[in-house]
Order: sequence, then C-alpha cells, then structure tokens
Amino acid sequence: MKLGNAAFELAELRTAQERDAGISRARAAVNARGRTFCVDCDEPISSARRQAMPSADRCLACQTKKERQRGRRG
Ligand SMILES: [Zn+2]
Repeated sequence: MKLGNAAFELAELRTAQERDAGISRARAAVNARGRTFCVDCDEPISSARRQAMPSADRCLACQTKKERQRGRRG
C-alpha cells in the first residue's frame, strides 16, 4: 500500500471543503431565518421586505442609506 503526499493532500482538501460547506450551510440557515429587527436602527423589518430578501439585516431605509454611503466612497 503506497500512499503518496498527493493522497493526503487530497484528503485534507476534502476535509477543508466539507468544513467550509458546513459553515456555509450554517450561515445560510441563519440568513434564511432572517432578522426581525434592523441591525442599525432596531426598527422592525417589514415582513414583505424579509420575504423579498430573507438575508436582509437592515430595514429598507438603513439599507438604502448604507448603499448610498458605499456608492459615495467607492
Ligand atoms: Zn434601520
């Protein structure tokens, strides 16, 4: 039985990929659950907005403000 470095590297790569996939899944689950309150102003995010964008963590006003700021800086 001859196991070269390549086999070990492949195994490690697989493990890392599976770990990353697990983290991504966990994050997606958190995002899918969505936030009820805006992270910026603590106002409730409307259910319509949460349905349209389940990953939204800001209310529409704060999201718009943030996008404008980013646009000005960039
Ligand atoms: Zn807000």
